[in-house]
Amino acid sequence: MFGSLSERLSGVFDRLRGRGALTEDDVRQAMREVRIALLEADVALPVVRDFVSKITEKAIGHNVLKSVTPGQQVVKIVYDALVEMLGSDTSDLNLAVNPPAVILMVGLQGSGKTTTSAKLGKKLKEKDHKKVLMASLDVHRPAAQEQLATLGQQADVPTLPIIAGQQPVEIAQRALTSARLQGYDVVILDTAGRLHIDQLLMDEMKAVADSSQPAETLLVVDALAGQDAVNIARSFSEQVDLTGVILTRMDGDARGGAALSMRAVTGKPIKFVGTSEKLDGLSPFHPDRVANRILGMGDIISLVEKASETIEKEDAEALAAKMAKGRFDFNDLKKQFSQMRRMGGMGALASMLPGVKQIKNAMANGQVDDRILVKMEAMIDSMTPKERIRPELINAKRKIRIAKGSGTTVQEINRLLKMHQEMSSAMKRLKKLGGIKGLMKMLG
Ligand code: GDP
Repeated sequence: MFGSLSERLSGVFDRLRGRGALTEDDVRQAMREVRIALLEADVALPVVRDFVSKITEKAIGHNVLKSVTPGQQVVKIVYDALVEMLGSDTSDLNLAVNPPAVILMVGLQGSGKTTTSAKLGKKLKEKDHKKVLMASLDVHRPAAQEQLATLGQQADVPTLPIIAGQQPVEIAQRALTSARLQGYDVVILDTAGRLHIDQLLMDEMKAVADSSQPAETLLVVDALAGQDAVNIARSFSEQVDLTGVILTRMDGDARGGAALSMRAVTGKPIKFVGTSEKLDGLSPFHPDRVANRILGMGDIISLVEKASETIEKEDAEALAAKMAKGRFDFNDLKKQFSQMRRMGGMGALASMLPGVKQIKNAMANGQVDDRILVKMEAMIDSMTPKERIRPELINAKRKIRIAKGSGTTVQEINRLLKMHQEMSSAMKRLKKLGGIKGLMKMLG
């Protein structure tokens, strides 16, 4: 996600930062490139226009061009505008109503609605300690109700018993009654998906919404749908009062346009993103972290949070400290590789770490899988302790030795070295921008 957008923007900004002084023309040229990069990432045209005109106006302001670090300032302006475009702050669910609080899940078929319902149920139960009941109102697609029941079992979240022949509004009412009687805090209603915007199903959804008075109406959209995702979101938001959006398949190769346009198009925040097919693959959406990621600085905070769930806190702190210093050597890199494997492999983490893009590029077939981690660990194992700490020692002769020792090629060694170098500089950049302040705060 955001891979090529991030690459394009980092390129533009590296050039800007590389100069001491900037003219208005330099800035305008950079903004033209930003515009093209956003359009290529499938961001909706009106959103791009608005965004670029806002940042251009700010960036050519006198104080910016005359400042000591104009390039840096322009990047900061773009960063702030990106955060604003993505929605400023993490948006929690609003469940502070008389229980049971109803969450209505809406979206197209195949968007990941049922899976996301189960993910959300699991999260509310495990992290927020809510008593959650789920019910599928999809009486159109065969076995849709059974699908939710199965996912509910996997997530250990109860689902409403299925009664054949009941209509959606009746099922919703039965779920609410059960929930009241049995003291549930939250009821998640998974509505029928549709293949495309279909008025009958829209009416059914509105009837359910009217009768169940949801505290949250969440639109589930597939991030891979690009421009279509934007159109889908617009149609839904015209028909129902959405309170938020969940973007699924953020682990995929989406170009990012959906995420960037969603807020402007629906007026509602992205509340969560789906990050894998597994039931724990749901994360809160943090606009600031995503903006960091887009600007090529990686999402170190999410990474460390994720890490601290799976690895010892000390390790996480040590890693964070290294990152804070803007340097880490091959010993750290190796430790990271093995942690990554423990944290569910590369897929889950691919976009979080600065420079993982480079790992991807570094590998001939563009595939990032766990075998690559094993291979890279082998290369690092074949280095001497000195080489691991001071990679600059690794000359041509040493490369041949390391390649032999690890059963790889000099080319692969070169790629690993380049990747390490790029990761270090990404971290330095992050440090300069103060992007890890939050991280340090978090670790106390
Ligand atoms: P529905 O028709 O909208 O209810 O969609 P489903 O919940 O049945 O999901 C369709 C497919 O998308 C399933 O194979 C899910 O496992 C998959 N899926 C859902 N969310 C995600 C996600 O965030 N990432 C990935 N990789 N797959 C997902």
